Amino acid sequence: MRIGEILQAKQTQGVVTITPEAGVRELIAMLAEHNIGALIVSRDGEHLDGIVSERDVVRHLHHDGTVINNTVGAIMTDVVETCTTDDTLDDVMGSMTRRRFRHVPVVEDGLAVGIVSIGDLVKHKIEQLEFERDQLDHYVHQS
Ligand code: AMP
Repeated sequence: MRIGEILQAKQTQGVVTITPEAGVRELIAMLAEHNIGALIVSRDGEHLDGIVSERDVVRHLHHDGTVINNTVGAIMTDVVETCTTDDTLDDVMGSMTRRRFRHVPVVEDGLAVGIVSIGDLVKHKIEQLEFERDQLDHYVHQS
């Protein structure tokens, strides 16, 4: 299965982005409002400048409680691992597991076209395995 199919099946289409200049309070409000765990950081709403997740907020808060008054740029990750719509579920799941993050932005022609979370990938992987199990079950009980 390809990432493009997974993006199309997502209930919320499009990408939610935040600028590096936005405040951490605004970030927390957006994560809560959209019920998501990470946002793409983009100056122009299209090109990728970084990624920021709830884990960045928690880690920085642990070291410095005043980070809540800082900007997204101060806590984001700016070297981002991305994928394309042509990449496979298994490849992206593999890199998330190896690199220990739960979100990967999908980029086409330099523009962010979506984001997939480990939850999206696990959902489709389970559906795929259930389908294969049912096929095998059918085959075995037919003969
Ligand atoms: P997550 O597990 O996705 O909440 O993120 C854990 C850490 O990895 C945070 O510091 C994120 O900013 C960072 N991170 C998340 N996704 C990516 C990604 N695709 N590429 C690089 N860093 C990431």
